Amino acid sequence: MKKPAAWHLDPKSPVDVFETLSGDQTPGLDVDEKDARKVTDELRDELVDLQERLFAGHDRRLLVVLQAMDTGGKDGAIRRVFSGVNPAGVRVVRFEAPTKAELARDYLWRVHAQVPASGEIVIFNRSHYEDVLVVRVNELVPANVWQRRYEHIRAFEKLLADEGTSIVKFYLHIDRDEQKERLQARLDDPEKNWKFDAHDLEQRKRWPQYMHAFRDAIVETDRPHAPWFVIPANRKWYRDYAIMRILVDTLGKLDLEYPKADFDPKTVRID
Ligand code: AMP
Ligand code: MG
Repeated sequence: MKKPAAWHLDPKSPVDVFETLSGDQTPGLDVDEKDARKVTDELRDELVDLQERLFAGHDRRLLVVLQAMDTGGKDGAIRRVFSGVNPAGVRVVRFEAPTKAELARDYLWRVHAQVPASGEIVIFNRSHYEDVLVVRVNELVPANVWQRRYEHIRAFEKLLADEGTSIVKFYLHIDRDEQKERLQARLDDPEKNWKFDAHDLEQRKRWPQYMHAFRDAIVETDRPHAPWFVIPANRKWYRDYAIMRILVDTLGKLDLEYPKADFDPKTVRID
C-alpha cells in the first residue's frame, strides 16, 4: 500500500498541511467504510501477535504519543485500536494539568518517569507536547521558555530512541465544526454529560492559535526516529484504521522474534 502524503508532514514542504487538510479526508485508502473496518480487524490480529512478540522478547519498547484538540478522539482511538491486546504489556498514561509537585520540577520529569520499560507499549494520552501547546496558547510561561523546549524535546526523544525505544506520534485532526458537534453531543446525551468540560469552550476560542502551535510542534520535532503522523479524524473508522496501519508497520519493521530457548526443551521431563 502506498504511503499517503497527508499522513506525514514534510518539514521542508512549502504546503502547510493545516491549510489543506480536512478531517473528512481518508488518504491512502481506496476502500469504503465497511471494507476499512474489516481491514482494521485483520490488522488488529497482527497487532495482537506483534505485541505478544514484543512482550516476550523484552528488548524493545514502543512509545505512542497521541495529541488532538479536545474531543479529537484520543480516548476512543485507544479503546478501539488496543481492544484485544494483552493488557499485561500495554499501559495508557494520561497527562493532565501538572500538580504542584510536578510544577516544582522541569516539565519532562513526569514524562520521563512514564516511558515504556522493555517489552512494553505505552500510550501517552497527551504528553510533553502540551508544554508547547496548551502552555504556549494560554501563555502559561513566557515565549522564550516554550520556544527552547523544542530543542529539549528533540534531545529527549533522541535519547529514548538511542536507548531502544521506538516512537510514533499521532496528531488526530478534526475540523472545528466537527468539534462543535461533538461538544454539543456531550451536552445533549445524558450518558456523555460527564465528558463535558467548560474549559474546552475556552480553548475552542483559540482554535487558530492551537493550529499554529500544532504545526510548529510537528515541524520542529518530526524526526525519522520519532515521526509525526497527521491523521484526519472526523471519521472514526478511518482514524482507527490509519493508527492501526501505522502501528502494525512500525512494529513489523522491528523483526520481533520469540526468544530462543537456551536449553533443549526435548531433554526436559515433567513428571
Ligand atoms: P483531559 O485530557 O480532558 O482529561 O484534560 C486534561 C487537561 O490537562 C487538558 O485541558 C490539557 O490541556 C491539560 N494539560 C495537560 N498537560 C498540561 C500541561 N503540561 N500544562 C497545562 N495543562 C496541561
Ligand atoms: Mg477533556
